[in-house]
Amino acid sequence: MSVAAPASFSLKDFFKSFLLWELAKGMVLTGRYAFARHVTINYPEEKTPLSPRFRGLHALRRYENGEERCIACKLCEAVCPAQAITIESTQREDGTRRTTRYDIDLTKCIFCGFCEESCPTDSIVETHIFEYHGEKRGDLYFTKDMLLAVGDRYEDEIAKARAADAKYR
Ligand code: SF4
Ligand code: SF4
Repeated sequence: MSVAAPASFSLKDFFKSFLLWELAKGMVLTGRYAFARHVTINYPEEKTPLSPRFRGLHALRRYENGEERCIACKLCEAVCPAQAITIESTQREDGTRRTTRYDIDLTKCIFCGFCEESCPTDSIVETHIFEYHGEKRGDLYFTKDMLLAVGDRYEDEIAKARAADAKYR
């Protein structure tokens, strides 16, 4: 029959326990962080700054006269690694080419930014908008009208972000 060895007694541990040493150490640590600079924020009331290159929700832009920038070159569609972009196009009476369909399936998109980088007319861009969601799959399928509406609504912010980033492009 084996007998358990008695736990060794430590006078040091006894006094530490008696003087609530661990509790005091915890309170010192709490006090130190209570007055330190906070590194967390109260999202969504507070937000961290975003880079002008932030890649959020896509938008299609227009020129100041209201004309669509997109010339249906399909570079963005070709470069998209997720095959999330679908474009159909036609030639107008004045000989210019424009899209008749421009869809992005955001459930496929990996937000790599290649579409934005490849666009010769700064038409397709990724905005600073990241607070959006879909409740069913089709909600994140953005059509041309939806993308143009995002562009129209946020053109000021988009233009400012492009201007801030222009010297690095
Ligand atoms: S960000 Fe990347 S994955 Fe998303 S649509 Fe553009 S090219 Fe495709
Ligand atoms: S968004 Fe830009 S890259 Fe894509 S088809 Fe239009 S002009 Fe070409």
